[in-house]
Amino acid sequence: MTPDVDAKQLADWDRRYLWHPFTQMQEWEQEPPLIIDRGRGAWLVDMQGRKYLDGVSSIWVNVHGHRHPILDRAIRTQLGKVAHSSLLGLSSPPAIALARSLVKLAPRGLTRVFYSDDGSTAVEVALKMAIQYWRQRHPRAGPKRTFLHLQLAYHGDTAGAMSIGGIGLFRDRFDSLLVPTIAAEPPYCYRCPLKKTYPACGLACVDPIEQILKRRHRDIAGLVIEPLVQAAAGMLTAPPGYLTRIRELCTKYKVLMIADEVATGFGRTGKLFACQHERVTPDLMAVSKGLTGGYLPLGATLATETIYRAFLGQYGEWKTFFHGHSYTGNPLACAVALANLEVFRTERTLARMQGKIRTLRRLLTPVSRLAHVGDVRQRGFMVGIELVKNPATKEPYPLTERTGHWVAMEARRRGLLLRPLGNVVVLMPPLAVTARELSRMVALVGAAIRTVTESPPAAGRRRRVRA
Ligand SMILES: *Cc1c(COP(=O)(O)O)cnc(C)c1O
Repeated sequence: MTPDVDAKQLADWDRRYLWHPFTQMQEWEQEPPLIIDRGRGAWLVDMQGRKYLDGVSSIWVNVHGHRHPILDRAIRTQLGKVAHSSLLGLSSPPAIALARSLVKLAPRGLTRVFYSDDGSTAVEVALKMAIQYWRQRHPRAGPKRTFLHLQLAYHGDTAGAMSIGGIGLFRDRFDSLLVPTIAAEPPYCYRCPLKKTYPACGLACVDPIEQILKRRHRDIAGLVIEPLVQAAAGMLTAPPGYLTRIRELCTKYKVLMIADEVATGFGRTGKLFACQHERVTPDLMAVSKGLTGGYLPLGATLATETIYRAFLGQYGEWKTFFHGHSYTGNPLACAVALANLEVFRTERTLARMQGKIRTLRRLLTPVSRLAHVGDVRQRGFMVGIELVKNPATKEPYPLTERTGHWVAMEARRRGLLLRPLGNVVVLMPPLAVTARELSRMVALVGAAIRTVTESPPAAGRRRRVRA
């Protein structure tokens, strides 16, 4: 690529050659794309030099900010050795060191690390491990073949991960590709399916899950859950104690607890892993997104020693886990992931974010009082602001009105990048964000919500926003 290719040329080529994820391309082709050229800290800069706050950490991955010198250097140093070698029959220093660090930092009892490429594959690996584990551990115990998961859950876009997903729009048309699973009602306190209120409810929403387990546990290999926050569902925060109850039920009914920490992992909830808020150790744990500080794609599935041991045997017993990817354990990705963990330690990232979490809560109070804000959910740095047409009845905006989208477009015009989930405006700043940047982000979110929901539709919702 020549350096003198200008922004306009790139915009044309984007619309001619690219197919963007989760994007209606017919609409995309009608507007000039926002092309990000560089970034630093919590900021991204486009081709014209305009600066934007990265309000969702580049889709939930960035941790210590863009262009962190230690992370940048880790990649350069590894590049000076080798960019890639395989974990199939070989090993590498970064892959070894990272596995050791992850085991030390993960919930106690998770002792083995299996690498893959992203969140979806980390989840696929967990599902396959669970199925094979039961076959090898109790070959005659009958088929534990299916999974229990929550409605509205999101675990990725590959077929297995979709099967345990609960967002109809993303999965229903692919029904023929998917395996049958069992879905239970998620904890969604703002719209509680049982019409109860926490804490008076006594976590009654767990009871139906126990009923399912009681009836079907012989068929169920694992229960898959996004601990504490069902992120893509709209940042649904589980009430305290919920995760503990799920752990107890999994143990009681001999079902593996599979924690999908792809979104919640690496500090996003205020602890390194969400499970640690309730001192829960899952049997399998999938991580990705923040694992490399938001630099390179890498996934990992952590397993307990019990699960790992069930895969040991003579070669001809065929207990091997026959799964792997071309780039499994890529050294560049592992090197930057190691540096990511090192920065957590040297910059005391988790300790320093506690004050910012409280600041964020305080800043969100006025937002929660806006006319069309129904619910503000926050867990650490994961925030979902649910917009409603009528707060008294909780009547949602029709999805076709795309209220969340127009809020994001308005925020962009004001210098803040967001990506909503339907009617839920998401805020998920990099952990390294400063208090001043946080305050600016929330002010911009509030202003954008007001412009779109409180001005006449013609002026707000339908305004064409130029990138
Ligand atoms: C993003 C996400 C995934 C999928 O990760 P990819 O890297 O996009 O494949 C899985 N689970 C959860 C909870 C996620 O938020």
